[in-house]
Amino acid sequence: MNWRSLVLDEILPCVSKPAQYLGTEWNAVHKDTDSVELRVCLAFPDLYELGLGNLGLHVLYAILNQFPWCWAERAYAPAPDLEAVLRAREMPLFTLESKTPLLNMDLIGFTLQSELTYTSVLNMIDRAGLPLRSEQRTHAHPIVIAGGPGALNPEPMAPFIDAFVVGDGEEVIGEIVSCLRGVRRGTRQEKLESLNAIAGVWAPALHDVKRLANGAIVSNPGRIITRRTVSELDAAPAPESYLVPFAQLVHDRAGIEIMRGCAHGCRFCQAGMISRPVRTRSIGAIERLVDETFRKTGYEEISLLSLSSCDYPEARTLFAQAARRAHADDAAVSAPSLRLDTFAVELADAISGVRRSGLTFAPEAATKRLRVVINKNFDNETLFTVIEEAMRRGWQHVKCYFMIGLPTETDEDVEAIAALCREALARAKQINRRARITTGVSTFVPKPFTPFQWAGQIGFDEIRRRQAILARELKPYSAIKFGYHEAESSLVEGLISRGDRRAADLIESAFRHGARLDSSSDLLDMNAWGKAIGETQYPVDAMLGERPLDAPLPWDYIDAGVSADWLRAEWARALAGAVTSDCRWSACNQCGVREALPGECNTMQARWRETAEHTENDGPVLLESRNEPLAVQRVRFRVGRFDEARFLSNLEWIAAWIRALRRARLPVSHSQGFHAHPKVTFSTAPPVGEESEADYMDVLLRDRIAPEQCLARLQAALPQGLCVYEAAEVPLAAPSLMSAVTGCEYLIFASADAPEVLGRIRSILESPNVSVERKGRPTGPRRSPASITVDIRPAIAALALEPSESDRLCVRFSTCLVAGRLAKTREIVHLLGLDPQKTRVRKIATRLRGCE
Ligand code: SF4
Repeated sequence: MNWRSLVLDEILPCVSKPAQYLGTEWNAVHKDTDSVELRVCLAFPDLYELGLGNLGLHVLYAILNQFPWCWAERAYAPAPDLEAVLRAREMPLFTLESKTPLLNMDLIGFTLQSELTYTSVLNMIDRAGLPLRSEQRTHAHPIVIAGGPGALNPEPMAPFIDAFVVGDGEEVIGEIVSCLRGVRRGTRQEKLESLNAIAGVWAPALHDVKRLANGAIVSNPGRIITRRTVSELDAAPAPESYLVPFAQLVHDRAGIEIMRGCAHGCRFCQAGMISRPVRTRSIGAIERLVDETFRKTGYEEISLLSLSSCDYPEARTLFAQAARRAHADDAAVSAPSLRLDTFAVELADAISGVRRSGLTFAPEAATKRLRVVINKNFDNETLFTVIEEAMRRGWQHVKCYFMIGLPTETDEDVEAIAALCREALARAKQINRRARITTGVSTFVPKPFTPFQWAGQIGFDEIRRRQAILARELKPYSAIKFGYHEAESSLVEGLISRGDRRAADLIESAFRHGARLDSSSDLLDMNAWGKAIGETQYPVDAMLGERPLDAPLPWDYIDAGVSADWLRAEWARALAGAVTSDCRWSACNQCGVREALPGECNTMQARWRETAEHTENDGPVLLESRNEPLAVQRVRFRVGRFDEARFLSNLEWIAAWIRALRRARLPVSHSQGFHAHPKVTFSTAPPVGEESEADYMDVLLRDRIAPEQCLARLQAALPQGLCVYEAAEVPLAAPSLMSAVTGCEYLIFASADAPEVLGRIRSILESPNVSVERKGRPTGPRRSPASITVDIRPAIAALALEPSESDRLCVRFSTCLVAGRLAKTREIVHLLGLDPQKTRVRKIATRLRGCE
């Protein structure tokens, strides 16, 4: 069966955002299946728009595809409309690149980033056609592995996963695929045993389970599984050929990891605790990656990623250099997490250039007492000073993240969040009258391997009550937007995060009752979770409640680096109101990591001490402002699209060309002003699904380049499916492309009854008028589009059956501009009685005024 044709012809025309499933993004890897021995699917259990930005997946994709004998493809959780189409047609979930069913892979690797993706893991396994539980799979099924933070407490997912990978993936992934390549023809048992022998990897199916005294059911792997750690980030592979999506993402930028780990010691933060000690990428390596990433992707923005990017030892130098490199390409750099100090504002100011969309800080708690409990020790005055500095530097909008439900929290602590925001707003408004603050209030969920792993989580009603306090306190302030995470999401997260094997039954039951994509609050189905809790008699109170310090924990057989004794001591210090210092600038706190990684801890401490001595003298980060020169040349390209690329929406099509122009390194002219836009225009907006060999794109250039050179450069920078055929210089003052369009010509291919279609063609051509309904301008208080009736007969220049070589009939349709209107292909398809989802349309000519 030709899966690709099936997906392109029958699946993608039926979904609302097909660009997520094309698999032909720039830098996507396609290999000849006959030349590879091992096929891998990297599976992200959430929507593409959230998953494509996951840096870990890009890293593993790049590493695996370096092996000539291995082909790694990708799959993301199907959106509800794709899932419905797959179910209706009894089609399995497929990989994006080759559209192959996941069942035909040798290995499927999930990343477990959040408990709210666990039902989607089950959904993807189920849609792939695999039995949900590992014990029900046979040698005919692919091996299912999982890694990421979720592997630190594997129990809730242990029955569904064949092998877990604990810790950093860069080194172990090569060992896993080499191992599977070696036992490719072996039995399933041999494969699992081979994987189980790799350090940091273990196969739950090979081990018994045991019931603990408190009723928990956990694995008994018979050994401690120690997390894998990459010692040197410079030696770890980082993707330069970052995948460049067509579809719009939630965070649409390339990421470069500059540091891994965090030693601030926030007691709620699992990410910081499980990645100690802090390891840095050298400034030279980052510079090279920034340069390569801009050149090889065409991205407009690169984010310098870490848990706290301002802590980078030479942050001023790094950000200044990266921003300079970005400005040279009319691009930007950003940092996802800003520290609460004025240096962070200075950095953000320097790298953001003229953009002032918003700054984000994470105070987490609003009273000094509670901030000491969570080990995030700063004064309110610090926050006010930072916000004032932001206002002075031109920002109007600041977002502040807080948590409710933290251990020892009282109503006074909750009310203090509102008071802090009010005071911050008042101080900000003294500098900028238009200042605004948005809160992001989440609920604390205790996570394994943190000092708060023994703490209790507040229940649903209590979350709502504390949220209501904040809503009431902030309501009178229109310049403060009260944003918060839904109580339902936190509840589901808390039911699983510290769960044992019983959580697996809960997850499976919720999935069978319809739960999936739980991370989207509008898709989270609490009805399904409620039924699952009842059906499995899940011990909700015990799962959310405080745990005795001496009770066994489901993840006791995992060694994440930090010792249980140190975590207990930190929990005691939290309750006693004691602060623990950051070990980068102070003495070692004996967290336990040094036992296995003494060299890494020593390197970290030496690096920060040495940098603290010489950064004092570093000057501020300064960047020259850019003055856009006048355009000197206008080049017109004839462009087109085929295959997967025909499913791009108009916005995706424009973005794809702009990124291709950036990769081609053509000196595209930009508008002046706060949000500089490239001066690129198109003749028409091709509808989703239509092929074209005759659209036009005008590009204004700030330096002269021969059109044939422009053509060659652009041809080399195009993703599969986009075409550029010719380039010619046109006068700078030529009329705009859209206003120059006088008509278009199309071929319409369809499986239909020829005499019937011929009859309809004659009827259309013989009619003096042909009325169709179109959306008019929005009217009324709700701005709903009015429906208007339009006579398109004058705009139909030609309509005729054409001889066709295939078994599909072919209609040639030509439209000309009359009274500012063209006839549309979807109107003609409807008038001819054709099924739009089974019709292929190709634009073969666009007529431009003055070029006929
Ligand atoms: S062992 Fe000491 S130096 Fe190493 S991460 Fe822990 S506290 Fe820091």
